[in-house]
Amino acid sequence: METRSVTGLVIREKRVSEADRLVWILTDEVGVIKAFVPNALKINSKFLSATQLLSYSKLYIKPTKDETFRISDAKPINVFFGLRKDVRALALCGYMCELIATLAPKGEEAHEFLGVALNSAHLLSENIADFRLIKAVFELKFCCLAGYMPDISGCVICGETESDSFTFNCNDGIIYCGECDGGGRKISKSVLMAMRHIVESDRKRAFAFSLGDQSLDSLCAVCEEFVISQTERHYKTLDFYKEL
Ligand SMILES: [Zn+2]
Repeated sequence: METRSVTGLVIREKRVSEADRLVWILTDEVGVIKAFVPNALKINSKFLSATQLLSYSKLYIKPTKDETFRISDAKPINVFFGLRKDVRALALCGYMCELIATLAPKGEEAHEFLGVALNSAHLLSENIADFRLIKAVFELKFCCLAGYMPDISGCVICGETESDSFTFNCNDGIIYCGECDGGGRKISKSVLMAMRHIVESDRKRAFAFSLGDQSLDSLCAVCEEFVISQTERHYKTLDFYKEL
């Protein structure tokens, strides 16, 4: 097959020999792929920076065996320099990369997944939004894109949409009003409004809202619990981020 060009974000790297590296990339056109970077020690520095972890690059790839690709050339588009100076931002990106590997498609287009990942990396790199907000939007948007869309329009029993407080059931992705409480995590109306905003907005507007400090803590906790519950797995990178 012919060499083709894709754009993508490097989400994981592994050294396989003295000179060769294997990288995992979230691409626009073929989702998450695994690719060899040949002779990593001999190639020029532009190629090297384009294929390092958390670089967003234009990549020329050719399929080899076992659904793996070989990168013949690469040019960096954005290396998110700011991320590399902030250990907390880097740790949060590590967790996001693990979510990408878990939730993003393989072999299919992934424009929206990549868009959300790039918006998040940009906000973290420039340090222009609260980390809790970025993390919550990323988690909830990724769940929605992967098919785990919560039904938060109204109480699942009586249909109430405007109660002062609700409970969110993370296993089923549904809400109960205060009257019909069916168990789950208590959330205020403002947290519910923020969740609706994230679910309903396009990926750029999804990050554009503000919440009080306590509500942001609550939003952060509920989105985290939702993604863990939906994907049924433990994220070591999340433990690491929270330890910092
Ligand atoms: Zn109800």
